[in-house]
Amino acid sequence: MAYLTAPEDLGDLFPNEPSYRADQLREWLYRTPVMSTDDMTNLPTAIRESVDLWPFEVEIEQSADGGRTRKWLFRAPDGAAIEAVLMGYSKRATLCISSQAGCALACTFCATGQFGFERHLEPGEIVAQVAYAQAFMRQIGMPGVPSRVTNVVFMGMGEPLANYDRVRESIRRMIEVMGMSARSITVSTVGMVPGIRRLADEPWPVYLAVSLHAADDELRTSLVPINKRYPIADLEAAAWEYFEKKGRRISIEWTMMDGVNDTFDQADKLAAIAKRLRAHVNLIALNPTPLSDERAPTRLHIQEFADLLKRKGANVTIRDTRGRDIDAACGQLRVLSGKSRRDS
Ligand code: SAH
Repeated sequence: MAYLTAPEDLGDLFPNEPSYRADQLREWLYRTPVMSTDDMTNLPTAIRESVDLWPFEVEIEQSADGGRTRKWLFRAPDGAAIEAVLMGYSKRATLCISSQAGCALACTFCATGQFGFERHLEPGEIVAQVAYAQAFMRQIGMPGVPSRVTNVVFMGMGEPLANYDRVRESIRRMIEVMGMSARSITVSTVGMVPGIRRLADEPWPVYLAVSLHAADDELRTSLVPINKRYPIADLEAAAWEYFEKKGRRISIEWTMMDGVNDTFDQADKLAAIAKRLRAHVNLIALNPTPLSDERAPTRLHIQEFADLLKRKGANVTIRDTRGRDIDAACGQLRVLSGKSRRDS
């Protein structure tokens, strides 16, 4: 579980060895990750055997989309489920990671929210998801995809800004130790206003995605309960502050639900918010979840909604949905495995 030790403290793992051994291990963990300590060729066997690498086991690994989508359900020793999904494209490989096991925010349409909160993930558990995917890309890879993780998005399980300090430390390790650029990292939030403000004061210009889903407070509170505490006007002010301080375009995530937030009235209001924030809107077709009856609109209707936003002057993309046949979306893995810490 070497990833649970801060990279600067790795020497503590073998106090009787010269310090360059810790430097070598740090290289393997963060710069050129490998699936197994057997692959750490410049370390003596005794050291390799003494290092317990991953802070979790791989419980489920599945592949879809011609091998260009890969999902993992990792299981920590205490039973906590950690899921990550890697999506490969011709010029990039985007890894979607989890920041918490479960989530306390209870957005009605989100599978993770429906199953409640288990615990925060440690910085090492967050960064190990990235290292694992990095090792996978270096040593196994995907057909026609660059052989490294190029982008990381905090869009797996959990609310990253509700686990601020640990997420911050994981980002620090990705940037300062792994050598990733801040521009390759996106923090996606349900709208934790204080967290957005803190993130704006950090030294790294990571991208911010705001999961908006509704453009008036009444509808948004019914979908995203935390909106009661941080209503849209406050969220918009914090997002604008982030944009101004960081110079990074905000993205607005909008999960499309048939008959709920796909009306022309919502499009109108959404376009106004997006234009004020100079944000980019990502439309995502709802992935159905066990405890909600909501459905995605038709493909045609999503296109009409997007066209309307464009006509109103907003920037918009319809996000492709990867890995549907393997339940790779949003908290679905744990549902599939049928276990959570509480009932295991
Ligand atoms: N808590 C953070 C990050 C995790 S959710 C956030 O809310 O942004 C990542 C994204 O997936 C969010 O935009 C979320 O709204 C979206 N999402 C959640 N459940 C979904 C579902 N069933 N179908 C489609 N998108 C979903």
